[in-house]
Amino acid sequence: MTKTQSLPRILEAIDAGVTEIGENYLQEAMRKDVFTVRESHRVTVRYIGRLQSNKYNAILRVFDTVDSAGPDILERLNGVQDRGVLRARAFLLEVNAGEETQKGGLTVPQIRELAAAGTPWLLEVSGLMAVVPVQATLPVRAVLYESVSVLFHDLASDLGSSRVRLLSMGTSDDFELAIEHGSNMIRVGTGIFGPRSPFRV
Ligand SMILES: *Cc1c(COP(=O)(O)O)cnc(C)c1O
Repeated sequence: MTKTQSLPRILEAIDAGVTEIGENYLQEAMRKDVFTVRESHRVTVRYIGRLQSNKYNAILRVFDTVDSAGPDILERLNGVQDRGVLRARAFLLEVNAGEETQKGGLTVPQIRELAAAGTPWLLEVSGLMAVVPVQATLPVRAVLYESVSVLFHDLASDLGSSRVRLLSMGTSDDFELAIEHGSNMIRVGTGIFGPRSPFRV
C-alpha cells in the first residue's frame, strides 16, 4: 500500500521485490506519477479506495485493477461492449466484513443473496477484498476472515475457480492471521514503509 509514499520510495520497494502497489486516491496517484513505474518494471497498480461515479472512467483508464469495487461500478462495467479503452482488467468485490454502517462494501450475507439470485455482474469479479473494523481484536478478526474465506470458496465453486481466485485480506497489523484464514493477497503499508505522515503526498 503506497498511499502517501513518494515515487522514489515506491521505486525502492519495487527494486526490493514488490510487484503490486495499491493507491487510495486518483489525484494523489496522478500527482506523484505512480503509473510511470510500469514503464520500467512489471508492476500492477491497484486502486483500493472509495469510488465516486464521476471518477469511474478516469480510474478504469489508468489503474490495472480495482480492488474496492462495488455493485455500481461492476454493473456499469457489465454493460460496456468495448473494453479496449479501459486499462483495468481485474476487479475485486469489497466485503464489509464487520458490517460497519459507515464503511463501503457489501456484507457477507448481501453477497450470498446476490450470488443465489444469479446476479450477472458477479461474473466480472476476480475475487474479494475484505476490510475489518480497526478496533476489532484478533479473535474477532479471525471469525470475520474465516467467514469471508468460506464465502470466497463458495463463490469460486459457483462461478469457477479460474475466475474467482484472489482473496485480499490482512494489513500490517494482522496479515499472519489473515493468511491462516486463506488470504492470498495482503495489503501492507506501514509494515514496509514505516508510519505514514498525516499529510498526503
Ligand atoms: C492503507 C491501507 C492498508 C494498509 O494499512 P497498513 O496498516 O499501513 O498496513 C490496507 N488496506 C487499505 C484498504 C488501506 O487503505
